[in-house]
Amino acid sequence: MGKPRFRSIFDGLPAYEPSRAVRSATGDSHLLAANESPHRPLPDIVAAITEAAETINRYPDFGGTELTARIARAHGVTEDRVAIGAGSVALLQMLLQAVADADAEVMYAWRSFELYPVLADLAGVRGVRIPLVDERHDLNAMAERVGDDTRLVLVCNPNNPTGTLLGHDDLRAFADRVPADRLIAVDEAYFEYVRQPGARSAIALTADRPNLVVLRTFSKAYGLAGLRVGYLVGPPYVVARLRKAYLPYSVSAVAQAAALAALGRQKELFSQVDEVVAERARVRGELTATGWAVPRSESNFLWLRMGAASGEFGDRCGDAGVAVRVFPGEGLRVSIGTPADNDAFLAAAAAWRAKTRSPAADGPATVSNC
Ligand SMILES: *Cc1c(COP(=O)(O)O)cnc(C)c1O
Repeated sequence: MGKPRFRSIFDGLPAYEPSRAVRSATGDSHLLAANESPHRPLPDIVAAITEAAETINRYPDFGGTELTARIARAHGVTEDRVAIGAGSVALLQMLLQAVADADAEVMYAWRSFELYPVLADLAGVRGVRIPLVDERHDLNAMAERVGDDTRLVLVCNPNNPTGTLLGHDDLRAFADRVPADRLIAVDEAYFEYVRQPGARSAIALTADRPNLVVLRTFSKAYGLAGLRVGYLVGPPYVVARLRKAYLPYSVSAVAQAAALAALGRQKELFSQVDEVVAERARVRGELTATGWAVPRSESNFLWLRMGAASGEFGDRCGDAGVAVRVFPGEGLRVSIGTPADNDAFLAAAAAWRAKTRSPAADGPATVSNC
């Protein structure tokens, strides 16, 4: 008997693995594996969702007119420069599908967001990985590697999972080196957590460039990961083409209403982001004071490059009821949660250190903290 024939790329794709339900012997559970907001949704936002639920017998507004207009206003751009999607990951998939000619390549730093290679494979676009240097993008190597087949360059800023940020001037100089007929997508999923003095969103670079787009999401700072809304800001020529790749009605009316409500509650939501940023400094401070090498993070997570010890430390965290993200053989990413979540992680880190004496013994010990 034969089997249905799929593109051979499917043989190499990792199967989806649901995150392990983590709970300690005493029933503790701290979800620090997915960089979600630890804050429950504001009552107003839940009310907007409930109200939108009354209309779910109807299709949502196809193009998300009101939400698009509201996002455009928030960024001081015209509406023809904004596209919404079912998460910024959906927009990324649309971008990849839009450039997927036979020999098309997409370039990204590595390690970076784990979905980049998956989405590239699915779209049939060859991935080109440029290694990080000192946990940050090597923009020089990336610019040099742009070739005839490069259709898209992804820049994750701040980078997931290392948390490092590229400066605005460096990014602009990089964009100047990439030919105008190659797309650059700057993924700013964590931009609301950036506190580096002088930092600026790459949205400022989209105004006078034909080939640069910025991806943003409601999944992190706005606390709507469960509803799937993201958006892109870029030149009208690109936005118009991307809208043609939109999976019809994929951003639900409930999601659109929640995003609108969240934009109306920016002040409260951003003060929650401030709390996370303060906790980020506390957690990193405690870790570095006890000998861990932790790059400075401009996001809502920290990166511990532990090499071969990553998996075992991840298991110990799990035993303590703390879910973290392990990249086997490389490192471990821990999200910043509530103070109680973070204390649970710090306790697991202290226990690990007491046992092994040198936390990053199996990994490269030279992580610059600049
Ligand atoms: C979390 C994350 C996103 C957000 O994806 P959504 O589809 O909007 O939930 C995008 N890019 C990176 C690098 C992320 O870590």
